[in-house]
Amino acid sequence: MKEQILSKFRSLFGKEGTLYMSSGRINLIGEHTDYNGGYVFPGAINFGIMAAIEPNGTDRVNVYSIDFDEKVSFGLTEEDKPEQHWPRYIFGVCMETLKRGGKVQGFDAVFAGDVPLGAGLSSSAALESVFAYAINEINGNGIDKFELAKIGQSTEHNYCGVKCGIMDQFASLFGKEGSLIRLDCKTGEYKYFPFHPKGYKLVLLDTCVKHQLADSAYNKRRESCERAAAAIRANHPEVDFLSDAKRVWLDEVRDQISQEDFIRAEYVIGEVQRVLDVCDALERDDYETVGEMMYQTHFGLSRLYEVSCEELDFLNKLARKCEVTGSRVMGGGFGGCTINLVKNELYETFINTAVQEFTLKFGHAPKIYNVVISDGARKL
Ligand code: ADP
Ligand code: MG
Repeated sequence: MKEQILSKFRSLFGKEGTLYMSSGRINLIGEHTDYNGGYVFPGAINFGIMAAIEPNGTDRVNVYSIDFDEKVSFGLTEEDKPEQHWPRYIFGVCMETLKRGGKVQGFDAVFAGDVPLGAGLSSSAALESVFAYAINEINGNGIDKFELAKIGQSTEHNYCGVKCGIMDQFASLFGKEGSLIRLDCKTGEYKYFPFHPKGYKLVLLDTCVKHQLADSAYNKRRESCERAAAAIRANHPEVDFLSDAKRVWLDEVRDQISQEDFIRAEYVIGEVQRVLDVCDALERDDYETVGEMMYQTHFGLSRLYEVSCEELDFLNKLARKCEVTGSRVMGGGFGGCTINLVKNELYETFINTAVQEFTLKFGHAPKIYNVVISDGARKL
C-alpha cells in the first residue's frame, strides 16, 4: 500500500509526499453506553487508511483516492463543498479545522485504505483522523488530539449527516499498540489498559447484513434510557445520566416505569459495570473473565436491550458451542459483526464451523477479520 501511494503521488504531483496513517477501531465492551454517559472501551486496529500529503502553495486541495480511482479538487470555502461522498470527509475536516482557528493551506494528497467500508470498523473515522492529524502537523496548528477527534466527529455531524459520538475518532487518534482505552463519555477522561491476549486471537465475523430497524430502534432505546434516568433522578438528584445510577436505585423505581424501560436500563447499568470488571480482569491478564463478560453483554443486548438479530444470535450461539472464550455483537446491533476472543488452538475449527453453518442457514458466508490492537494516527 505504502509504495503504491507514494508512486501515485509522484506521478500525479511530480514530487515526494509525506506519509501519514490512521486506523479503524474495535470496541471490546461498552455498547450503547456512550449516550448514557458511561464507558466505552475501544482500541485502534491493524486496518487503516494511509495518505501521502504535501502542501502545494495554493488555496486548493487536490486529492486522489486509490480505492475509488477518483481525483477531486476543491477550494476551502463552503461554496466549494464537494458533492461526492469520500471528498466530503476531507473537506469537512478542513472546514472544521478552520472553524477552530487552525490554518489550512492548500495541499495535494493520495490515499488508500484497507478498513472494510460500512462493516462497523469505522473506516470513516480512520479517514477523518488521518487527514485531521496530517493537516494539524503540516500547518503547525498545535491542536490537541482530543480536539482533532472532535474535528472528525463534527465532520460527520455537519458534512456527512451522521450524528455519531466521539468514540470512533477518539480511538483512531489515541490508539496504541497493545492497549485498549477506557473512555468516560461523560467527562472525556480516559485511561489505557494493557491488552496482550497471548494464546488468543481476536476475530470479527461480519454477518454482512444490516436490518432496517436500526435508526428508529436506536431513538426508542435512547428515550427509554432518558425516562428511566429521570425516574431515578427524582430520588437521587446526582444522576445526570443513566450510567450514574446504581442497580438498586433502578429497583426502587421498578413500579414507576414500564417493564420495557426497566429492562433497557437494566442492560445499561449492567454494561457500565462490565466495562469496569473487564478492565480489572485485564490488569490480572485474566482473559477468561473478559470473555465471560463479552457473553454477558451479548445476552444483555439480545434479551434486554433487544438490538440483536437472528444472524448475530446464531454466531454467538455457535461461538459458545465451539468453546470460544468470549463473543458478542459489536456496535449498535441489527447486523454488522460479532467480536470473538478465541484460543489459538480452537480458532481453525471455530472459523470453519461458523462459515459452514452460517452459509447453510443464511445463504452467504460471514466475512472474517483478524484484528490486532495497533497504533492510531501517526506520521510514518
Ligand atoms: P464505517 O462504518 O466503515 O465508518 P461509513 O459509512 O461511516 O462506514 O463510512 C464509509 C465511507 O467512508 C465510505 O463510503 C467512503 O466515503 C469513506 N471511506 C472509507 N474508507 C475509504 C477509502 N479507503 N477510500 C475512500 N473513501 C473511504
Ligand atoms: Mg463511519
